[in-house]
Amino acid sequence: MSDWRLNGQEKYLSNKTLYKITFPAFWETAYKDQNAFFRKVEQYAKEHVERTNRGHEFLEGEKIQHFWHEHCEFCWEKALTDQACTFYCTEDMYYWVCEECFRDFQEQFNWQEETAEALLSNS
Ligand SMILES: [Zn+2]
Repeated sequence: MSDWRLNGQEKYLSNKTLYKITFPAFWETAYKDQNAFFRKVEQYAKEHVERTNRGHEFLEGEKIQHFWHEHCEFCWEKALTDQACTFYCTEDMYYWVCEECFRDFQEQFNWQEETAEALLSNS
């Protein structure tokens, strides 16, 4: 009984706390508060522009969100800041899991669910 989505994720995602993130609200708050997620996106944006020497015009204001996207660690569903979707991420916002995969694997991976507010209060 194997699921095509499983590919060794238990090595780094077992027994984690995952934070429930809803877009676009999460981005809107991040942008307003210039919080940890905003700084992460800003970092991606700057690195990208530096590396490629292109896209300077997108470093302005809200446009920097277009440098960021993530994929579900299981099914590769895409998370974007300006599309309505719900994902769960690790505390460092490095790994992202879509809502469906979260439900399917929560028990198996022993995940604890927390809110986006809890995530941001740590930073
Ligand atoms: Zn998924």
